[in-house]
This record gives sequence, C-alpha cells and structure tokens, in this order.
Amino acid sequence: MFESLSDRLGGVFEKLRGRGALGEADVRTAMREVRVALLEADVALPVAKDFIARVTERAIGAEVTKSVTPGQQVVKIVSDELTTMLGGEQADLELAVTPPAVIMMVGLQGSGKTTTTAKIARRLKEKERKKVMMASLDVNRPAAQEQLRVLGEQVDVATLPIIEGQQPVDIAKRALQAAKLQGFDVLMLDTAGRLHVDQPLMSEMQAIGEIAAPAETLLVVDALTGQDAVNVASSFTEQVPLTGVVLTRMDGDARGGAALSMRAVTGRPIKFIGTGEKIDALEAFDPERVSGRILG
Ligand code: GDP
Repeated sequence: MFESLSDRLGGVFEKLRGRGALGEADVRTAMREVRVALLEADVALPVAKDFIARVTERAIGAEVTKSVTPGQQVVKIVSDELTTMLGGEQADLELAVTPPAVIMMVGLQGSGKTTTTAKIARRLKEKERKKVMMASLDVNRPAAQEQLRVLGEQVDVATLPIIEGQQPVDIAKRALQAAKLQGFDVLMLDTAGRLHVDQPLMSEMQAIGEIAAPAETLLVVDALTGQDAVNVASSFTEQVPLTGVVLTRMDGDARGGAALSMRAVTGRPIKFIGTGEKIDALEAFDPERVSGRILG
C-alpha cells in the first residue's frame, strides 16, 4: 500500500531533513519532486496541483521555530496536507437512526461488493455487537444471492431467505419488513452490479434508495483501477447520494492514486479499505494514520 509514493517522498525529504536553512528555491525544488511523485502514484492532476500550491504557500510563509529544523517543518506541513487530502477526520458509519439502519451497498460487478458487504456485517457484529441482516438484491448475476447466503453462514450473520424470481424493489421491501419484525439493528442491502455505469443501474439504485431510505449508501470500488475508481465514484455521486466509499484490493495497490484523489474529486469520504480476500481483511480508513504510513 502506497509503497512507491512512500519511497519517493522518503528520498525527497531525506535531502531536506539535514538542512539548517531552507530558502524559497529549495522548497520549490522539493515541491517539484513531490509533484512528480504524486503523479506517478496516479493522483489526479488538479488534486496534485492544489496540494503542491498549499504546501508551498505554507512552507514559504512558515515561521521558523527553534525546536525543529526547516526541513522537519516542511515534512510536518506535507503530513498535515496529506491528511487533509485523504479526508481529514476519520469518517465512521453513521447508524444512529430508528432501527433497522439500512446500509445500501452499490458498485460495479467484480468490485468486491458482495465480499465487502459480508466483511462490514461481520465487523458490526463482532465490534459493535449489532444484530445484522443481509439481503442480496442482485438478480442479474446468477448465484449472487447464493454467494451472500454462503458468506452469511461463514460469518454467522442472518440473510434474507431467497425467493426465486422476486425483483429488487420487492426484495428490498420484504427485507425491511423482516428486519423490522425480527428486531435487527442493521440491514445491509447488496445491490446488483453491472459491468459499466448505466442508466438502468442508476434507476434501480434510486428506486431502492427511495424505499429503503438508507442511513449509509456505500460505493465499493476497486483501488487497482486507479483514476477509473475515482471516475466511477463521481458518476455515482451525481445520481445516488453516496455517504462514503470503500476501496477494495488496497493490498495489491502499490500506487494509491484512488485513495489519494477520492475525497478531493468526489467530496465523499473513504470509510473502509479492503486489504485481502479473507473475510476479516477490512480496515477503517483513518487519514491521519494513512498519512503517517506514507511518510514513514
Ligand atoms: P462483486 O461482484 O462486486 O460482488 O465482487 P465479489 O465480492 O464477488 O469479489 C470479487 C473478488 O474480489 C473475490 O474473489 C473477492 O475475494 C475479491 N476481493 C474482494 N475484496 C478484496 C480485497 O480487498 N482484496 C483482495 N485481494 N481481493 C478482494
């Protein structure tokens, strides 16, 4: 995760750290190298530009304090701005509504949506002692509903019984009723994925959203697709009010461009990252910790 950016920034800061004094030219040279490092990590160009402008302005205007060297001061400014770029404060799930709190999971096919649904359900059960039910509304992909049922058994989370031939909106209604009657705290709706963002997909999400009034609508996107992941998120945001993003396959993503650009481009926080195929491979996304990880 972020290895290439981390290495590149490490090299830039190594040069700065030992310096007793830093002039404007030194800062600008360093920032040029940081900009290249960000673009190589696949950060969206406007996001990289904005980042460099903010760091440069702060670094040049910074009062030099006695306790740190100018080099250390620049590193601290980069660290702060990186945290801001990643979203600032950690964004937790907001489920404080009359139960059942609905979490609607949306995303393209193959993004890891169904696996992530089960990962989040497991996490809510284990960490927050929530009573969770999952329901698959994916009637397009054969065996999608069965996949969620099997995952439910694996993590010991209830799933809505499958009725063959029932349509997504009707499944959502049935799931809500069942969750209410049976006293579930959280209902997770795993909606259908498609290969591309298309109008039928968006209309279906909207129809389900109207019925389920979700407390959270989470988009699942594959971090390995880089800027495409950010573009998919932008397309969804225009049509479905997303409350957050889950980036999967971060375990295989050495560059990190999707994670770095997501908040600035879409305005939506990353709430979780998927870090492996195993059902417990899910982490809350904490911008400050991630920034610390990148800067080593
Ligand atoms: P869906 O079509 O979006 O529902 O995708 P699935 O949930 O079926 O996931 C597709 C594949 O991606 C499966 O083999 C998952 O195990 C895998 N997968 C999901 N999340 C992650 C992750 O964070 N890291 C890795 N390495 N694989 C993942």
